[in-house]
Amino acid sequence: MKKILIIEDEPNIRELVKYNLEANGYTAVEAEDGNIGMTKVYTEKPDLILLDIMLPKKDGYEICRELRSEGNNVPIIMLTAKAEEVDKVLGLEFGADDYIAKPFGVRELIARIKAVLRRYEVSENESGGTDEVFSAGGLTINYDRHEITLDGRQIDLTYKEFELLGFLAKNRGHVFTRDELLDKVWGIDYAGETRTVDVHVRYLRKKLGDDDEKFIETIRGKGYRLR
Ligand code: CA
Repeated sequence: MKKILIIEDEPNIRELVKYNLEANGYTAVEAEDGNIGMTKVYTEKPDLILLDIMLPKKDGYEICRELRSEGNNVPIIMLTAKAEEVDKVLGLEFGADDYIAKPFGVRELIARIKAVLRRYEVSENESGGTDEVFSAGGLTINYDRHEITLDGRQIDLTYKEFELLGFLAKNRGHVFTRDELLDKVWGIDYAGETRTVDVHVRYLRKKLGDDDEKFIETIRGKGYRLR
């Protein structure tokens, strides 16, 4: 049974989510502030964290950043309350895997959890054996190890940034519309907007030092492709 840690200071939301997680076959653990949440990540070893952003003691961004800097790769879904938070979370510069905006429906929440857990399982199962590698223009993508290097230097990408770049590389030269990329990389059920793609491309370019679109090219009126 998968264990999910809910770090959320509003008791009503916490209880509602816990109830529904258990009804869907998950074990649920709760934390009402950021400090307790951090402790429970290590004492409970959850398979996934639902992380509120505005929290007493330590906010969700801080928790996320701290865990990733400690090398902890537990899947994290952020719970955002305000539209302004979405842009920030979308960049996922904090290392979250997905977000869901409040108020959210239970079915959507469960679908997101399943999708994130499935992706993690797939990437874990893929390790071992011969590594699948893409290499061009100094850029190397190791699909099995989920590693990217540029001119031999390792580039740290979030899960989604990796998925997006990896997908474009597998279909090098082909132009995809934003909607197609949303479908392929985020999944057909993803309720996000096409700007999700733009935000991720922006972060990818920043990390790859790709201001001149040497790698990811914008095709006006169409979408993106990897050169
Ligand atoms: Ca809160």
